[in-house]
Amino acid sequence: MGNCGHESHGDGIYDVVGIGFGPSNLSLAIALEECQAGDPARSLSVAFFERQPEFGWHRNMLLPDTTMQISFLKDLATFRNPVSRYSFVAYLHETRRLSQFVNNQDFFPTRQEFHQYLEWAAAGFADRVSYGAEVTALRLPRDAGPGPAPYVELEVRCVGAAAPTVVRARNVAVSTGLVPRMPEGVARDERVWHSSEFLERFGRLNPDDLKNVAVVGAGQSAAEIARFLHDALPHAQVSAIVPSYGYSVADDTPFANQVFDPGAVNDYYFGSDRTREAFWRYHRNTNYSVVDDEVIRDLHRRSYDETVRNARRLHFLNLTRVNDVQRLGNVTRVLLDSLLDGVPRELEVDALVFATGYDAMEPTALLGELDRYCLRDASGRHRVAREYRLVTTPDLACGIYLQGGTEHSHGLTSSLLSNIAVRSGEIAQSVLRADTPAPSGDPGAGGPDTAHPAPLPHGSR
Ligand SMILES: Cc1cc2nc3c(=O)[nH]c(=O)nc-3n(C[C@H](O)[C@H](O)[C@H](O)COP(=O)(O)OP(=O)(O)OC[C@H]3O[C@@H](n4cnc5c(N)ncnc54)[C@H](O)[C@@H]3O)c2cc1C
Repeated sequence: MGNCGHESHGDGIYDVVGIGFGPSNLSLAIALEECQAGDPARSLSVAFFERQPEFGWHRNMLLPDTTMQISFLKDLATFRNPVSRYSFVAYLHETRRLSQFVNNQDFFPTRQEFHQYLEWAAAGFADRVSYGAEVTALRLPRDAGPGPAPYVELEVRCVGAAAPTVVRARNVAVSTGLVPRMPEGVARDERVWHSSEFLERFGRLNPDDLKNVAVVGAGQSAAEIARFLHDALPHAQVSAIVPSYGYSVADDTPFANQVFDPGAVNDYYFGSDRTREAFWRYHRNTNYSVVDDEVIRDLHRRSYDETVRNARRLHFLNLTRVNDVQRLGNVTRVLLDSLLDGVPRELEVDALVFATGYDAMEPTALLGELDRYCLRDASGRHRVAREYRLVTTPDLACGIYLQGGTEHSHGLTSSLLSNIAVRSGEIAQSVLRADTPAPSGDPGAGGPDTAHPAPLPHGSR
């Protein structure tokens, strides 16, 4: 479906509308299809709206040789349905690469390959997805009668359409993804970029004009971009501005990795405040502001090699922060603050990349007038039932589900791929339970109902 020309059957109200069609809602599309397959009597009408012109998963960070940070088995479906026709193994089988992949003896495909897999799976749902279609607002039905609203209206702006389309849905899955974060006061432009726009921006400039470049950050994206720039610009000085003393390694050892298991969601959700606080305290380093061992070693090897050859062009400015950014024509002046000696420094660069992470999905703005029906905990965060459904007042009988933005209630996997197969299955089952009462108070969950000190993470991937 290339535009907003949807057909919902029956009463013109979709059973499920998904906002965004990244891996989370793609996984939900699969789960809905597979869960209904067991019950031919049920046939849900489903539509997804994606603002990108075509399917794309962090396209601007599909750098050569970058690998996934999860096993290929944590694909869109396998953990929920090991015999799904949308598994990564099914994709390999169809593309006749299964033997070769296995002979590679590597759990972690490249991001390029995983992207191809996601595109392949997304193609199976082309009849249910509108691309170039941005959902701009949710609201109560204009013609709502008395009593709880059984559906909501979504305003969708489609590329090329003169006016927004209004779509009606009994259930909504919000999955709009992480939000790029820049340091306060720093504006993006054609020479100052966030990592989320990296390849597109880089491709617009002539590499010969890039003689001095810098990347800011201590996470995986920062390290990957430093390595990419070092390869792609063999004539250039590459500076890595690192706020820490050096890159820290991502802990993906077996016991630590258990925090991404489906079972960890229950432990987090039903745990006490102290449980949740311990998750963050002990296991932040599985995902936030950390770098894969292999990338760290590669960068260090390059740096050492340059020292041996006395030909340094890869520079690490550690314990250093950006104080200000000034633009002078094509040159960008970066004012730096060193925590080592306190001496302010300046760096003049032709391009500056902020790999300064992302904020978690926050649905308040999109929910608009519906937000006042969504209950919040003592810390002001949305209360979310175990099945990822927003807890609302009885005024809303429809389901609003979150895929992302539930770090406070469901834990570390909220913005990651690790648990999307199982999470999507739980949401699909909840939607399919036609008699699900609106969760206006949450049974037995210490999770969303109580205030707790778990910090909202700011992943700096
Ligand atoms: C470079 C990078 C690499 C990563 N690698 C990994 C990894 O290896 N393993 C892992 O577990 N996690 C990884 N992550 C974390 C990442 O969050 C997940 O990989 C994944 O993208 C989550 O899927 P999602 O569908 O929830 O969000 P997204 O992939 O961000 O998809 C959200 C979609 O919603 C669309 N959208 C947003 N607003 C609207 C709107 N109003 N209307 C319509 N459409 C809208 C967006 O265009 C986007 O396509 C990575 C993140 C980055 C940035």
